[in-house]
Amino acid sequence: MALSVVDLYRDILPKTNCGECGHPTCIAFAGQVVADGLSLSECPYLSSETVERCSIELEEQYAKGKWTRRDMAEDALAWARERASSMDPATFQARLGGELVMDRDVPVFHLPYFTDTLLIRELAITTREGLALTRWEQVFILNHLAQGGTRRPTGRWKGFIELPNTTSKIKNMVDSVEEPIARAFSDNLLLLKERALDQGGTVETENAGSADIAFLFSPFPRVPVILLFWDADMEEGFEAKAKLMFDETVTDHLDIESVVFLGEELASRLVEPKPQQL
Ligand code: SF4
Repeated sequence: MALSVVDLYRDILPKTNCGECGHPTCIAFAGQVVADGLSLSECPYLSSETVERCSIELEEQYAKGKWTRRDMAEDALAWARERASSMDPATFQARLGGELVMDRDVPVFHLPYFTDTLLIRELAITTREGLALTRWEQVFILNHLAQGGTRRPTGRWKGFIELPNTTSKIKNMVDSVEEPIARAFSDNLLLLKERALDQGGTVETENAGSADIAFLFSPFPRVPVILLFWDADMEEGFEAKAKLMFDETVTDHLDIESVVFLGEELASRLVEPKPQQL
């Protein structure tokens, strides 16, 4: 019988997210095993019998090309739906902000998302205009619904590196979020300000520190993000630098992979906004 990412996570892995395999979560490790052929023996908590038994099944599905990387989004979406389906929609409003509205006896959750509002009806997600989201965006939103946190932001800010279990994701945050923003807006603070305001950002002065400019965004009501930006100074030999700061409660509302996705989404909206994001 083939083993999907969900099967591995649910039935085989310890689900402790200890990070000893070099992945921040067991589900991330399962994804690499299924899609990229990573050996299950990288998890030190599985018995050799379990590794051997599963490897036979995995080798068969690798040979057939089943669940290759191109199917990862679908598998992740199935997993995220399964996670989110255990959550009671009646708790969404109190936990996440937004508003739960009854529409012909069906609860529809209105969740503010950057400058838009998402409508979530029986875990189907559209924008207010009825546009569908990409599968990875849906995974991201469903993980936010499923994370289960209840705390409101405290106003105590942390860099990504200070959040728990981020070691293996720091490079992603730098390479796909902070450096693209720094490159795109080096010597162009006016354009950065224009794009940031378009995404609902406000100029942040209280927590800007030594940055030349800072913006506060609210991608979700309970998930604020600050972008700090230092412009290039050629005379001093400094290149532009960008850094995201998260409220200390962010991991109540998003798993670490979703925090990176959030950073990537913000970077993409600033650097290359799509027409509907303007
Ligand atoms: S080593 Fe990886 S797969 Fe194993 S329990 Fe820890 S995080 Fe999960």
